[in-house]
Order: sequence, then structure tokens, then C-alpha cells
Amino acid sequence: AVLRQFAQSVQQLLPSEAAMYRFDGDEFAIVYPGAGEEELRALYQKIHAYCNRPHKIDDSSYFLTVSVGVAIMGKDGSGYQELLTCALSALEVSKQNGKNTVTFFSQDMMHTRRRALELSSRLQLSVMNGMESFHLVYQPFVHSETLRVSGAEALLRWSCESYGVVSPVEFIPLLEACGLIVPVGKWVLEEAVRTCKKWLRYQPDFIMNVNISYLQMLDESFIDFVRQILNQYDLPPAHIVLELTESCFVTDMEALKEAFKLLRNLNIQIAMDDFGTGYSSLGMLSQSPADIVKIDRLFIKDIHREAFNRAFIDAVIELCHSVGIEVTVEGVEEPTELDAVRAIGADSIQGFFVSCPIPAHSFEERFITPQTAS
Ligand code: C2E
Ligand code: MG
Ligand code: MG
Repeated sequence: AVLRQFAQSVQQLLPSEAAMYRFDGDEFAIVYPGAGEEELRALYQKIHAYCNRPHKIDDSSYFLTVSVGVAIMGKDGSGYQELLTCALSALEVSKQNGKNTVTFFSQDMMHTRRRALELSSRLQLSVMNGMESFHLVYQPFVHSETLRVSGAEALLRWSCESYGVVSPVEFIPLLEACGLIVPVGKWVLEEAVRTCKKWLRYQPDFIMNVNISYLQMLDESFIDFVRQILNQYDLPPAHIVLELTESCFVTDMEALKEAFKLLRNLNIQIAMDDFGTGYSSLGMLSQSPADIVKIDRLFIKDIHREAFNRAFIDAVIELCHSVGIEVTVEGVEEPTELDAVRAIGADSIQGFFVSCPIPAHSFEERFITPQTAS
């Protein structure tokens, strides 16, 4: 009934030249001959405005959102089939951008898609060749007052011949999309555990942070693997912190909650990464299974000038401390940022101010073994 009401109402909004067709499920296509970008945008605005108000069928009320992808004949393609492919690509982008929006197709979109496909197949080859072209770098985090190194975050790097160094911001989602994050994540954990064990000889309280994708948490063999690796390297779990992005903590997924519980039983610490960029509220911090909250750089930048950011971090730190959660501030670059962060009582800081992520041997030289005079 909702679909019927939607289709009938949208048809009323169409100019006489345009026609609407039903695809699968809740997908529709509108063909609007002769329309340029301006007319198409205006039509989208009308449909959007209609959808985003309360609707009623009998006694039930409901809301609708509408995601749209637009392709233009001549400009984007010359046949209906081609145009449809372009419109669907644009629709996909609208959905990725949080839905309820419109995207016009562009050639860039095709480039992005092609690049993603090619990178994915190269990533697959790297994994098949024993994690070839992957390596880890380490970024120290320090006590905010003494600036003494408390540990490091292990960060994954990957490069390939044709594309050079590719950012993890780009390749991690690709690994996630094809499921390869599970084996790669296991390799990362093992590498990090091995390195941590080595550095513990010089600094007995050293902590190693490892980023974990939510897909790894959903993998049934993950917890056993963590247990097995810690045993194999004889590393006490208190030296490992697993970092998960904020969105993992707000989901209703039972499997994730269960995995958190099992990790806590193993005595492994959990950090909520990139706090402030996702959907959690301050209120939920009190029920969170996190031992550590890492506040994203977004709020650190210009902290000495931005009253809101300062007040936000201040409130987060106070709330976390009241329930025994430690706070790390990420992305501290400038001395002014350090001063501001110290003044509001963050426990640890991480960022270019101390060091950017560096290879293991450089980390050892700078932070683990005593430096030799040069
Ligand atoms: P993240 O876990 O929040 O890591 C911190 C990111 O901030 C790193 O980017 C680091 O280089 C960057 N950063 C540190 N200090 C500063 C600073 O002072 N200023 C600025 N502008 N940036 C700073 P990187 O290495 O590019 O990693 C990006 C993201 O990729 C990570 O964000 C993490 O979410 C993901 N990632 C990296 N390695 C892994 C991994 O092994 N597994 C998974 N699942 N994700 C990973
Ligand atoms: Mg992290
Ligand atoms: Mg982060």
C-alpha cells in the first residue's frame, strides 16, 4: 500500500512529458525527455519534499526517504541500457552518502569504480602471495603530562607497483568488501603481538594497540585466534588493546555484543576509536564496554580557537573519567593543541607532535632502545 501511494503521488508531481516505471521492490525509474540538469533537480526537490513529510494509510502514519541517481542521455550515455547503468551507479553513491539525497552521474564515478576493482584484485594477489606488499608502521602514544611513551598503535600499509602507496582509508574498505580483512587482520594481529613481545624486553609496561574491523569481530574464529596468538607468543593480554570504531559500539548486533563480552573475559582492553565521528551519544559512554576512548582529530584541530570543540572534549573527558574510562586524544600536531589537551586532562596523546607512524626499526631506534649519540 505504501508503494502504491508513493507511485500515485509521485506521478501527480511529474510534468506531462515524464513517465514513471516500477523496477524491482521499491525501485522506480522516471524518464523525463528533454530535461536538463535544472529541471531534473527541480523535480527531485518536489519528490523529496513530498516524501519527507508524514504520510498516512488508514490509521497508520509513516515516513519515507528517497535516494535518487540521475543520468542524462547524450552526456552520460547514448542508449537506455547504458543510461540505466549510469543512473544505478549514481544511485549507489546516494545510498553510500547516507541516503535521502540525489547524485548526478559523472565519469569520475566510473573511474572510482574501476580503480576499486583493480585495487581489489591486486589486494587479493598480495594476500595470496603470503601478505606480500603489506607491512606495519607504528605510531607512539604518550602520557599527556610526562610525554613518556606508553605504547604504539600498529597501522597497516600497502603499496602496489601500478598505484604506489595506497592509503588504508581507501584499501581497508576494499578488504572489508571482499572479506579479505579477516585473513589480513589476523596477520596484522600476529605481527603486532610479535613486535610487542620483543619491545616488552626493553619496556615491561609497553602496550600495543591494534585496529580491528567489525567484520573480524563477527568472524567466529576470531576470539579463539586472539587467544591462540597470545599463548603462542606468551604475551599477557593486558599488553594488547583492540581498537574498534565508534559505530561498532552503537549497533544492536547481538554477535558484536557477545564478542565484546568474550574479549573482556580474556582481559583484553578495548578502545573506542574515532570518537565523535559516528553516531554515539555522550550518554551511552556510561554503558560502553570500552576501557579507552580515542577522541578523533576532528575536535582537536583548532581546539585553542574553537570553543565548541574544547567544551566537547572537556565534557567527554569528564564523563569518561567518572566511569573509569581512559581518554586518548588523537591527531595532536601543534604545541598549542598539546597545551589545550593537557589543560583539560586527557590521559594520553597521539599525533604528529610526538611522531608520525614509522617502521618498526625506526620506532626501536627512537623510542625503545636508548638512542646512540650521533
Ligand atoms: P585510526 O585507527 O584512527 O588511525 C589514526 C590515523 O590518524 C592514522 O592514519 C594516522 O596516521 C593518522 N594520524 C595520526 N596522528 C595524526 C596527526 O597528528 N595528524 C593527522 N592529520 N593524522 C594523524 P592511517 O595510518 O592513514 O590510518 C587510517 C585508518 O585506517 C586508521 O584510523 C584505521 O581506522 C584504519 N586502519 C589502519 N590500519 C588498520 C588495520 O590494521 N586494520 C584495520 N581494520 N584498520 C586499519
Ligand atoms: Mg586506530
Ligand atoms: Mg582514530
